[in-house]
Amino acid sequence: MKRTNQRQLAAGIAKRGFRRWYERQLIDAHLWLVGCLVAMILVAAGVELATLGTGTAERLSDGALVLGGLAAGAYAFRRYSRTLMVAEFIGEQADCPGCGRHGFRVGGQAPNGPTGSAPPSHAHPATGIDELTAACPRCKCHWAVRLPALGPEKPTS
Ligand SMILES: [Zn+2]
Repeated sequence: MKRTNQRQLAAGIAKRGFRRWYERQLIDAHLWLVGCLVAMILVAAGVELATLGTGTAERLSDGALVLGGLAAGAYAFRRYSRTLMVAEFIGEQADCPGCGRHGFRVGGQAPNGPTGSAPPSHAHPATGIDELTAACPRCKCHWAVRLPALGPEKPTS
């Protein structure tokens, strides 16, 4: 599952290019943050309604609103922090070691192959950590970008 998610992540970066992928990750992350804030408003509304309600049915529905808001808020915050963590993990490795330009294209020269034949991601032979081959569009320098270990949740591509 971890490898599949890393490959999906690498394919997403390869498809859009780093800069567009990174921009989209930041937008996605902050949409999840807005979702978290909306869920917290639902929790506050549920608590407020629970203090006004008199019947058992009303209190149950208010309690359901609070619990639903808490669950949705926790999920949204988890997606927010995960999306941002992945974007920052990749973004920290996006500076070209040759010229310092921020951003890269995926592919180019594979470690053991001709130019243009590299798959979006591969496991490092020594460490086994999945990485992708980054190519600088300015100076044509190549370097490896490590992919984060991702759990069962589907990354946003
Ligand atoms: Zn460069």
